[in-house]
Amino acid sequence: MERRKFIKNSSIAMGLSTLGLNNLDLSSMNKKTEKPVVISTWDFGLAANQDAWKILSKGGRALDAVEQGVMVPEADASNSSVGLGGAPDRDGRVTLDACIMDEKGNAGCVTALEHIVHPISVARKVMENTPHVILTGEGALQFALDQGFKKTDLLTEKSKKEWQKWLETSDYKPVINIENHDTIGMLAIDSNGDLSGACTTSGLAYKMHGRVGDSPVIGAGLYVDNEYGAAVCTGLGEVVLKNLSSFLAVELMRNKKSPQKACEIAIERLLAKTPNYKDLQVGMIAINKKGETGAYAIHPNFTYAKTSNTINKVFEAAHKI
Ligand code: ASP
Repeated sequence: MERRKFIKNSSIAMGLSTLGLNNLDLSSMNKKTEKPVVISTWDFGLAANQDAWKILSKGGRALDAVEQGVMVPEADASNSSVGLGGAPDRDGRVTLDACIMDEKGNAGCVTALEHIVHPISVARKVMENTPHVILTGEGALQFALDQGFKKTDLLTEKSKKEWQKWLETSDYKPVINIENHDTIGMLAIDSNGDLSGACTTSGLAYKMHGRVGDSPVIGAGLYVDNEYGAAVCTGLGEVVLKNLSSFLAVELMRNKKSPQKACEIAIERLLAKTPNYKDLQVGMIAINKKGETGAYAIHPNFTYAKTSNTINKVFEAAHKI
């Protein structure tokens, strides 16, 4: 569904439009330390946050929260940009990218993984049960099956029909803010003050077979440094990969920038290196060690969900254009 249409129709967004400027996330501007907090990309992040919150509100670990949280859109067949029901590549194959990073700086990633509903959990197993950081394609699938994950057909009837329709023209054009790509990226700080992050996606719809985006690449789609903060990106992965935007945002927080400023500077840096930036969207969210958060995007309509003891809501991020 076209994102704008979805936003218009959803009750969340009705709140957004009536709130206007009040929709700014003021909770992060009053500089009050708050934990636990979970933030995630896009309006579908709100449902994901609910599951993460079940863990965080009981004093659980941020790592467990972000894994559980992003499993919600992964299992949601109606979400065409993550996990089951994700749009396939141009050959009709659903290939998934995911990564996870914990408070100790450990990381696990899978790229171009097929047939597994929860790539985030496979990424966690890569982190915890192997000496490696990334497993890809067939190797990642073999590992997942060895770890007890079940093989599932991820191509739903709906996404198959849409792909077949796309084949009629085979016109490859990622469109700004339209739901043919959109990753769930989630960041959390737990009551212990520890940070973790997760990122999972089916990537760009109708991508070339074998294409891997930013989402499973540490430093590009996601970065966590438990001393300073964490950041995650969504949008056209190719430009995020070339700018390592998540790492940059965390580095900026290390240099005492607020999460909001860090997102803005990281996006500005990316824009400076991307002459055609008006044709593409990148959004990012960040959180620091105090539980303050930030979000910024190139274009309007990048939404993110934030849940804490005082907030449970979708916001629209500030934007450059
Ligand atoms: N960043 C993802 C990718 O390039 C897609 C998205 O977030 O919209 O694969």
